[in-house]
Amino acid sequence: MEQQNIKIGLPRAMLYYRYRVLWRTFFQELGMETVVSVPTNRDILEQGTALAIDEACLSLKIYLGHVAALVGKCDYILVPRVSSFDRHRSMCTRFESTPDLVRNVFRNSGQKLLSYEVDEEMKKKGEEEAFLEMGKALGCSAKAVKRAYKQAKKAELSQHKERVQKYEQQYKKENMKVLIAAHSYVAEDPYMGKPVSDYLKRVGVIPLRADIVDREAALKHSRELSPTCKWEINREILGGIAMHMEDVDGIILLSAFPCGPDAMVNELITRRVKGVPILNLVLDSQSGIAGVETRLESFIDIIRFKEGKL
Ligand code: SF4
Repeated sequence: MEQQNIKIGLPRAMLYYRYRVLWRTFFQELGMETVVSVPTNRDILEQGTALAIDEACLSLKIYLGHVAALVGKCDYILVPRVSSFDRHRSMCTRFESTPDLVRNVFRNSGQKLLSYEVDEEMKKKGEEEAFLEMGKALGCSAKAVKRAYKQAKKAELSQHKERVQKYEQQYKKENMKVLIAAHSYVAEDPYMGKPVSDYLKRVGVIPLRADIVDREAALKHSRELSPTCKWEINREILGGIAMHMEDVDGIILLSAFPCGPDAMVNELITRRVKGVPILNLVLDSQSGIAGVETRLESFIDIIRFKEGKL
């Protein structure tokens, strides 16, 4: 197959929200087409829920729904295995097992999967090497893959930097500001966190994100709240809170049910962060926006009351 004719499916869930620019640029640079599943809707949620075991977290159920939506619509579906970036810099174990899980769930679909593996801690395997292997498996030359990765990484870093700068400006505004502490795929998904930030905007509150920060700085600052937390994304969120808790009026801890890392880390945050009102929202497929809005409304009232504005 000519590389130009290869179509790669990207499930719009989980790591897509962190790596969308990296992935899209990489495949585009190699002359391939990418197709992204539609934003989460009721069908995707229901299909993913039917494919997952009951104990799976809501994020994983949604992810499986997105994979199902791409089956038959592309040559390969990208399902990476991202385990760790260094010692004590691990990802949630779900990210280690996703390729095996997807391969098993969709074993009779005839759909081909594409994967890459990042595991610095156990296998000393970094992202660049992982992309090189993936590109070569697709029939591209090492030179072309290296160039594509370089371009993709540059685009990813520059997009993140731009987002961070935009958020830094928001912190300076006078309006009430609330920091949302959540994994990007929870914060941005239309069936999980997006209704929360939409509601805040509607009532004149600026929603900010603990994970949209300078990642290097956040990893260092995370130690102020926990010197031992080993989950990379939770560390970034902890660091984001440590860096900005004095710039905001409240913090919303937003997680998908049942999330092991968040359950532990959010408990730690509520114990260690003092002086800022905190709302802990755990979302499941039954949450419904009405119930969430009622809790958000009372939270905003609590902040206003505390600040003598009610
Ligand atoms: S960190 Fe939590 S929400 Fe994310 S995949 Fe793991 S268990 Fe699911």
